[in-house]
Amino acid sequence: MSAPATPTTPARPSNFLRQIIESDIAQGTYAQRHWGGGPGDAAQQAAGPLDPAAIRTRFPPEPNGYLHVGHAKSICLNFGLARDYGGVCHMRFDDTNPEKEDTEYVNSILDAVQWLGFGWDANGTSHLYQASDYFDFMYRAAEHLIEAGHAYVDEQTPEQMRVNRGDFSTPGKDSPFRARTPAENLTRFREMRDGALPDGAAVLRAKIDMASPNINLRDPAIYRIRRAEHHHTGNRWCIYPMYTFAHPIEDALENITHSICTLEFEDQRPFYDWLLDRLREGGLINAPQPRQYEFARLNLTYVLTSKRKLKQLVDEKHVSGWDDPRMPTIVGLRRRGYTPEAIQLFAERIGVSKADSWIDYSTLEGSLRDDLDPKAARAMAVLDPVKLVIENWDEVMGAGALDACSAPVHPHQPERGRREFNFGRELWIERTDYEDVPPKGYNRLYPGNKVRLKYGHVVECIGATKNEAGNVEAVLARLIPDTKSGTPGADSVKVKGVITWVGAADGVPAEVRLYDRLFTVPQPGSGDRNFLDEINPDSLKTVTAIVEPSLAQAQPDDKFQFERHGYFVADRKDHAAGKPVFNRVTGMKDSWAK
Ligand code: ATP
Ligand code: MG
Repeated sequence: MSAPATPTTPARPSNFLRQIIESDIAQGTYAQRHWGGGPGDAAQQAAGPLDPAAIRTRFPPEPNGYLHVGHAKSICLNFGLARDYGGVCHMRFDDTNPEKEDTEYVNSILDAVQWLGFGWDANGTSHLYQASDYFDFMYRAAEHLIEAGHAYVDEQTPEQMRVNRGDFSTPGKDSPFRARTPAENLTRFREMRDGALPDGAAVLRAKIDMASPNINLRDPAIYRIRRAEHHHTGNRWCIYPMYTFAHPIEDALENITHSICTLEFEDQRPFYDWLLDRLREGGLINAPQPRQYEFARLNLTYVLTSKRKLKQLVDEKHVSGWDDPRMPTIVGLRRRGYTPEAIQLFAERIGVSKADSWIDYSTLEGSLRDDLDPKAARAMAVLDPVKLVIENWDEVMGAGALDACSAPVHPHQPERGRREFNFGRELWIERTDYEDVPPKGYNRLYPGNKVRLKYGHVVECIGATKNEAGNVEAVLARLIPDTKSGTPGADSVKVKGVITWVGAADGVPAEVRLYDRLFTVPQPGSGDRNFLDEINPDSLKTVTAIVEPSLAQAQPDDKFQFERHGYFVADRKDHAAGKPVFNRVTGMKDSWAK
């Protein structure tokens, strides 16, 4: 007999959004709301059953670029909250701004969300929406505002409008067009829609309060004339809604309960509420209406999270593309070797707050190490190879002999088996593992010192041969017999140093890309500095390494811990059998820590 399964939700740290949602659920704030099966106005929603989703959130990117780590925070937050509270998160393209079709961006955004581990199918419905589908309703909402005396067509010049808006210390002045009657406004607005006015000649403005201390309430523009072809609606419209008008409506039509956005929209919240109050009073949208909540955007040290600047890095070829492993884009992080779980862990660790702050890059890397440590297979790799020659090998082991060694795939998971490789007369070791004259505390190879070659034998260093320039060509050593790891004699000789190595007979050459932070300063481009001047010139070093034979089987995206060196991934684009390419994801420790 087995005990009934108890659902286990991993404990997640509380935050102000969780508290709001928990309280809304406890009070039944949205419990009586109906859902007509898709986005729609009040009548459509009322015709449906009670909304099966306890809450509805949404992730609403503009399809105008690749998503980055800041968006990942928003994705984990919105989809994560919906998952945790029996809700649904809508995937919505905020495409109210007419612009060139870019299916490249649309597809990459969908890929990124799915790769991060989230989806938009719930209760048998795909909640994938695009805001341009709501243009008809938005137009109707605008006419409703006009008829109710809440909006007017303003024909001041943009300059007059700017001056008359006032500023923080001066109240605004009413437009001479503000007193138009609803009938006049309706006629004029329809003329705007029908193309009778040139671009920029008039705007529709909400009629709120030109003296409001919140400048966003000084009769904000809600529709403008713009003859631009839209990638979904073509040339059907020559007027387009402003973002601040469109967004609350999108949320309302989709029955969103908690509309979560970044702090810069805090001052827009009064307009968000004003607009939805008016539309609800008019019976146009479902009740209760959505509410907006703001959280602090992610600022990550050494990283840019501005689409515009990231585009500049790509366009000016400072990086190889949007998926360059140094880019903070989701495609870049993925190629760098980040896992969805590591990014989710990061999002959980940084939490959400209402105060702007900077998160240290090491927090991102730390989440990655914690995720990869139990997952990544171990391997030995020599990144800066120099030969180690065991002079007495043939004599002790037999001419040309190879000695089979092995090591666990993972030190704490014996069930994952062992990797095999050969010890022989010639091995590859790191160039830095030999010194003619050891600095203080140096326990690795120098004349007279004994060192263990990990999983292999103990050797005593004799010295090194050098070329004319004085560089080491080969390090020379003698085998100490009967000291092989795992044999009874292994501990007979005490050594202080253990080094990694790869056999010359079976080592595999591989291209290894040593990535580091893209910028040298924590806040690139802050103050009046140019972020381009702060690019780290050493953010990529490519070396030819020698790796252990088990890595010849690596598949693109496979992740490893190269012992002593850190985490590496087989590059998802360039790695191939016979031409291995590994990216350094991150070192074993934070090398930038002070
Ligand atoms: P743009 O300047 O082009 O509008 P954006 O970064 O705001 O860029 P959107 O596509 O509008 O891009 O963003 C989609 C969602 O991602 C928004 O809800 C936004 O709040 C969120 N988001 C964007 N950047 C960050 C960030 N750095 N931290 C947290 N959330 C973010
Ligand atoms: Mg935006």
